[in-house]
Amino acid sequence: MKFRNFKMVGYVVFGRGSFDQLDEILAPNRKGDAPMIFLVDHFFEGKELVNRIPLRGRDKVIYADVTYEPKTSQVDKLADQLKQEFGTISGIVGIGGGSTMDLAKAVSLMMNNPGSSADYQGWDLVKYPGVYKAGIPTLSGTGAEVSRTCVLTGPTRKLGMNSDFTPFDQIVLDPALTTNAPRNQRFYTGMDCYIHCIESLEGTFLNEFSKSYGEKALQLCQEVFLGDGEWTDAHDDKLMMASYAGGMSIAYSQVGVAHAVSYGLSYLLGTKHGIGNCIVMNHLEEYYPAGVAEFKRMVEKNQIDIPVGICKGLTDEQFDTMINVSLGMKPLWENALGKDWEKIMTREKLRALYERL
Ligand code: NAD
Ligand code: ZN
Repeated sequence: MKFRNFKMVGYVVFGRGSFDQLDEILAPNRKGDAPMIFLVDHFFEGKELVNRIPLRGRDKVIYADVTYEPKTSQVDKLADQLKQEFGTISGIVGIGGGSTMDLAKAVSLMMNNPGSSADYQGWDLVKYPGVYKAGIPTLSGTGAEVSRTCVLTGPTRKLGMNSDFTPFDQIVLDPALTTNAPRNQRFYTGMDCYIHCIESLEGTFLNEFSKSYGEKALQLCQEVFLGDGEWTDAHDDKLMMASYAGGMSIAYSQVGVAHAVSYGLSYLLGTKHGIGNCIVMNHLEEYYPAGVAEFKRMVEKNQIDIPVGICKGLTDEQFDTMINVSLGMKPLWENALGKDWEKIMTREKLRALYERL
């Protein structure tokens, strides 16, 4: 038995208003007059938050277009642009949801690694550390702030650059930044965390490390999405810590069926991660009976619509593409169903599941 020896985030600050410590946090990480690049979710263009970014010298704000989830071509273009404009930079600060977190991680790595980010989609392929990178989430749930991956859609696959060089050097967890997120978006991204917990806690890879974080994250999700009363600051605080703990839980285990199936949807139909997971979770009673029942209560209580019928009218070829992408996520299936998963999740069974979505 070989135990995973995983790299964690370097520094963590948590607290409402901690964003305003950014100047102080970045100062020792500046290299001469090389600029700090702030990669900001395009939602914040023209918003007050941008005026609070501590720009110095040649620092630059770049808005990240996250209309679609990050692509390797988008990462390569951003890194090339920065190399041409500045040569070297002090670092990258990603401010936004999971998509912006992942873009910031990937661009940091591509500042110091040759070729295309598509060359590094996989496990431990990245050769050199990236430039300094900090992550500041404005949505809670993905766990991208703590993970050792950055999920990218490339020419042939949707897969992260998983490596010890991928985690952030610094994260700033300021729940006030998530306050204005739209209700639906907050729910979908929050459910990503809830689903991480269920998949981790019900998985065969579970150990006490994952369980400790997973149980705490699950409890926080329950308080947030099943509690009574109006949404308050305390909800945002809890959900941000749930995301962190949920991410820590899967760092030492794995996700499961909902993610494996949702990756197929995302690859073929461009379905986004949070909502895609919800669409799938809605139909997974067979695998996670208690989790799915509770998920449905959360959907109802928060008055969220989960799309149905999204695979209607797809061709055999399209179903095959999704099945191939999904069955390619071997560690996820093994975590969910055990070593003999291939005997349980046959192509026919998976096709029937996709047809129900
Ligand atoms: P997102 O980053 O894709 O953003 C969704 C939408 O919310 C965007 O339109 C964005 O502009 C907007 N937004 C962001 N913050 C906002 C705010 N405070 N107020 C209003 N709008 C805001 O959403 P997400 O669910 O956080 O992230 C999904 C992405 O994360 C996917 O690309 C997925 O692959 C990735 N992911 C990564 C990991 C990892 O470990 N690296 C894990 C899970 C998911
Ligand atoms: Zn997820």
